Formats: sequence, C-alpha cells, structure tokens
Amino acid sequence: MKSSFCSAGKMIVAIDGPSGAGKSTITKKLADRIGYINIDTGAMFRSVALLANRAGIECDDDKALEKLCKSMSIKFERTNGSCSIIVNGEDVSSKIRTPEISILTSAISANMVVRDFLLKYQRNMAVNKGVVLEGRDIGTVVFPDADIKFYLTASVEERGRRRFMELQAKGEDVTLNQTIEAVKKRDEQDANRKYAPLRQADDAIVVDSTSLTFDEVVDKIESMIKEKAGCNC
Ligand code: C5P
Repeated sequence: MKSSFCSAGKMIVAIDGPSGAGKSTITKKLADRIGYINIDTGAMFRSVALLANRAGIECDDDKALEKLCKSMSIKFERTNGSCSIIVNGEDVSSKIRTPEISILTSAISANMVVRDFLLKYQRNMAVNKGVVLEGRDIGTVVFPDADIKFYLTASVEERGRRRFMELQAKGEDVTLNQTIEAVKKRDEQDANRKYAPLRQADDAIVVDSTSLTFDEVVDKIESMIKEKAGCNC
C-alpha cells in the first residue's frame, strides 16, 4: 500500500547485503511506500557486465572497460509498477538476470575502473536525497554518511532456494544445489575482493529475512526509517 512520507523524510537510505536476501524486492516496495527513488546498484554492475560480455572485453582489461563505461548511459524507468533499467536506450532488465551474467558481474565488479565509474554515477543519482540505494558497499563506501543503513541477510540455503524459484519460474535449467553453490561462490567473491568488499557497516541495522515474508521486512524497515526521520505520518 502506498503512503506519503512527510518532507522531514528526505534522507539517503542504504540497504546492503548478500545476493538472494530479498534486497531488490524489498527495496522496490519500500521506495514505493515512502515515495523515494529506488536505485538498484546491482543492476548497474550487471549492465556493465552485459555490455562487456557482448563486446568480448575481459574483466581485467582496464582500458577497454573505462572506454565502455564512459560511453554508457543508465536510466531507471517505472512502468505499471515494474522497474526497468535502460542502458544506452535499450531495456536490459531481463537480459542482466541470467546465471551467466550474475557470475560475470561478480567478477567484473571487482575491477576498480568499473567501481570508480559507478561510484560517481550513484552519488550523482542521489544528489537530491529521498533515495533508497541497494547494493553491497552503499553504507561502507558510496554513502558512509547515509542517514540510515540496513544490512539485509538470510541463511545461504534460504537465499539459494529463493534464487532457484526465480530461475525456475523463468524456465532456466538449474537444480537447487547448483543454485545454492552459485550463491556461495558469489558471496565468496563479493566478500573477498580487494575493493569495496561486501561488508556490514558498523552502524548498519541487521535485518534477517530468513523466516520473514518480504512484506514483514518492509514493514519493519519502514517503521525504523519513519522513526529516524521523526515522522508521525
Ligand atoms: O544485487 P545483485 O545480485 O544484482 O548484484 C550483482 C553483483 O553486482 C553482485 O554479486 C556484486 O558482485 C555486484 N555488486 C557490487 N556492488 C554493489 C552492487 C552489486 O559489487 N553495490
């Protein structure tokens, strides 16, 4: 249900966490409820990976990646309640969600040239505040001074199960075990990379979604944001 949010609530909200914790769904619902703009930074990294893959660019080819990033335009669009990502004028929303692009994204997002480019892009997008950003390093690197930070997590089995259901619904040919293993691999890559690794910010509020519905998580986060903003609406 959509509710308006008082003007005291123009904040920067950071939501970080590992893959499959429900960040995308939860962040979209939350942004709708409080009237904020939702910035899915994972979709931005995925888009770089998709374009690099199409162009045959390797994850460590700094020069080619820099050129690719500089020529890239990224826009989020809302149509009939669903959010699309438009890259260089093309809607890539579903093309960036395949298992192949997921693994490639995790590798390409360890590249400093790519991270630097997207860091600036994300800061610019949030310049007017009133935004919810979701990713891996929002509360630690992109906006270490965010007004409120959440670290959304769930057990690896539950995250793998959720990802498996999504992939199955799309007709992807994968097993539950393969999906759990892929989630573990991404966790490992994201947490152990040199630049901006996945890490919980010291001042982040941890929300474990293992045994909660997404609506329950949104309720919880929404009430904490409103309390922080001193909002009585
Ligand atoms: O959140 P999502 O699963 O779409 O993210 C895809 C990948 O993008 C992650 O596995 C991670 O490697 C990378 N990522 C990142 N920093 C962010 C958001 C995503 O490195 N802020």
